[in-house]
Amino acid sequence: MTARHTIAKEVACEGIALHAGTQVRMILAPAAAGTGVVFRRLDMDGIEVPARYDLVSETTLGTTLESGRASVAVVEHLMAAIFGAGIDDLVVMVDGPEPPVLDGDALSFLELLDAAGVKEHDTPRQAVKIVRRVEVTHKDAHAALAPAPALQFTFEIAFASTAIGQQRFAFDYSPAAFRGEIAPARTFGDISQLEALKQMDRGHGASLHNTLAIDGDKVLNADIMRFPDEFVRHKILDAVGDLALAGMPLIARFEGVRSGHALNNALLRALFSDPANYRLVAAP
Ligand SMILES: [Zn+2]
Repeated sequence: MTARHTIAKEVACEGIALHAGTQVRMILAPAAAGTGVVFRRLDMDGIEVPARYDLVSETTLGTTLESGRASVAVVEHLMAAIFGAGIDDLVVMVDGPEPPVLDGDALSFLELLDAAGVKEHDTPRQAVKIVRRVEVTHKDAHAALAPAPALQFTFEIAFASTAIGQQRFAFDYSPAAFRGEIAPARTFGDISQLEALKQMDRGHGASLHNTLAIDGDKVLNADIMRFPDEFVRHKILDAVGDLALAGMPLIARFEGVRSGHALNNALLRALFSDPANYRLVAAP
């Protein structure tokens, strides 16, 4: 049996919020078995927002969770790191509307979780085994979960900018492979859309340190790139984080073609809408 895990001790960090642009302090704290991941807004009387796919309220430029009058935005990179660290139960306290973006990757959160250490609960971890293919499509974007012996990802993207172009990546999930091949991949954005983004009151915290900036057919900060195909790897990072909102590991092959936060969430809603799509099993 694989047990549920939380962290061994509290850890904290501070940084800028990607969209709000404000300084946010985040504290990760151990949680009892069965808690799942729960966000707590310290700046809003401690209102709690559970990290669950059915509480996703917004998927433009990040995944936002909402419960009651509180929301937490851009949760996907942190969720990917929590999943990658094998943590099931955790309280995430923030004093602002988003976790800090840190390096725009999941690795910086993984390093914070490393410092917290892991504590094993004596409750077994369950997994969701996909037994029937589930797929969702929107225009030329597509996402599917197919039956598979273990968690796998394939992803394809196609951008007009030759800085990205067509990229495809296939990835067999393991904690070590996630840490080495996916977690370091930074988020990216088109510099020509940054002003429009700021008009929408988004992207105030984006910088050449935390976001790969596409300018026409160039990457302005190519010097900080960690992989030649970092963009498609980051799309897998986002998918890992979005799928973590299932609350349990999936045993499936995720297939993404130009998928994003909206389709990733629609896919989980489609999966859980019909119990014939999956079986709950002991986690491998
Ligand atoms: Zn992302």
